Amino acid sequence: MSDYLVRMAQQPALRSVIKTIGLPTPQTLARAGGPYVETPLAGKTVLFGAGDGATASKKVQTTLKAMGAEAQSAADVTGDSRFNAVVFDATGMTDPAQLRALYDFFHPIMRNFTGNARVVLLADVPETADSVPAAVAARAVEGFVRSLAKEIGRKGATANLVYVEKGAEDRVAGPLRFFLSDHSTYVDGQPVRVTKGGKMPRSVPVTRPLDGKVALVTGGARGIGAATAERLSQEGAHVVVLDIPADAETLETTAKAVGGTALPQDITDADAPRAIADFLKEKFGGVDIVVHNAGVTRDKMLANMAEHLWDMVLAINLRSILAIDEVLLGDKIVNDHGRILCLSSIGGIAGNAGQTNYGATKAGLIGYVQSQGQKFGDRGITVNAVAPGFIETRMTAEMPFMIREGGRRMNSMSQGGQPQDVAELLTFLATPGAGGVSGNVVRVCGQSLIGA
Ligand code: NAD
Repeated sequence: MSDYLVRMAQQPALRSVIKTIGLPTPQTLARAGGPYVETPLAGKTVLFGAGDGATASKKVQTTLKAMGAEAQSAADVTGDSRFNAVVFDATGMTDPAQLRALYDFFHPIMRNFTGNARVVLLADVPETADSVPAAVAARAVEGFVRSLAKEIGRKGATANLVYVEKGAEDRVAGPLRFFLSDHSTYVDGQPVRVTKGGKMPRSVPVTRPLDGKVALVTGGARGIGAATAERLSQEGAHVVVLDIPADAETLETTAKAVGGTALPQDITDADAPRAIADFLKEKFGGVDIVVHNAGVTRDKMLANMAEHLWDMVLAINLRSILAIDEVLLGDKIVNDHGRILCLSSIGGIAGNAGQTNYGATKAGLIGYVQSQGQKFGDRGITVNAVAPGFIETRMTAEMPFMIREGGRRMNSMSQGGQPQDVAELLTFLATPGAGGVSGNVVRVCGQSLIGA
């Protein structure tokens, strides 16, 4: 599934036609398209800055160096300078007056970003700040990032925020690696919270981080699930791809393509949680990564919605997930340092006419990860959700044209995302380096206006 406007914009002659008729001209987005590498910033120019009293700078600079960045300081910037990435450490602010540092640093360089540039800011976690002015300053950084992202998004550039709890500075390397690379292409204008609770694994490899891990991806035969199975396997995981028995043929093909194992199973069957748990235990001794991806839409205005449509969406998108996790977590089928990942949606954040059933399930999953997020920290298990915006899959191809066009264009990048963009975010959250991130809901939506 692809976007006709992105294809047209790649041809210079058609690009001017798009401009003339006043349509947005989507930038071709840079996508990593392969496994993690040790030095993704090699040969790239990165500008680093920090506010007064910033606390994460040492760790940030070590990470930039390890990523192969050619670091520049603000003093060397000229009109011709071009930055592939910019990092600003805004932690340690104690008063909103210090926000002036953001203006002073970014104002002179706003014309110096390359297309597809990556901007990352770090700030203290507002909820645990030491004082009211410190909380205000920290939260203000999020508004700055979201607005900056909207200014630079048309060039395919992104800006994201890493909130760092005091004492969790040594956990920012993983998130920085993700946000500064082309693995995070369609994640834009988003905050991620890195906290110090919960055990980190002893070893945090940056390449092939999932070597030796076993992953379960539900609804993995196609779409986002299949792309996720592929990315997880590229990073070393053995993937158990689950889908309904009626789709056994597509399921087999996908599982084979990623060197994984097919598991035909309807997740709403009463015995599904036990059957899945027994399968994982007997075949692999347990599971490290669970991606609850299977999901359906059955859209109808509530007045016209038959009860079976309500029941079906609630059963697949929400109740089965809770039932499966109850067994997988309860019986310790999920290994230490495991990762539970749910597919929410911007529809679960913003709501949508005709989606009372779907919206309820996807918002329910937000409640789920927020309440479970810190519960298994003693075993290093994290629980997070991703909330995709408009992604080019069978689900969105079925939308009426005008609704589909609205969903595609109403974001900072004027285009829909690809299944691999969601797969990238899920894969990052599955890595050992994301051990400081739990209970988060991260949107992958090109900074969609819906629910923003
Ligand atoms: P898709 O329809 O392409 O794939 C979903 C898969 O889930 C299918 O292979 C289907 O057979 C499987 N499935 C459905 N019911 C099942 C059941 N009872 N047991 C086992 N498997 C079952 O959908 P997609 O677009 O790839 O979406 C994947 C997830 O992402 C869903 O949870 C969806 O709600 C969410 N999401 C998608 C978008 C988007 O724009 N495509 C946006 C937000 C959220």
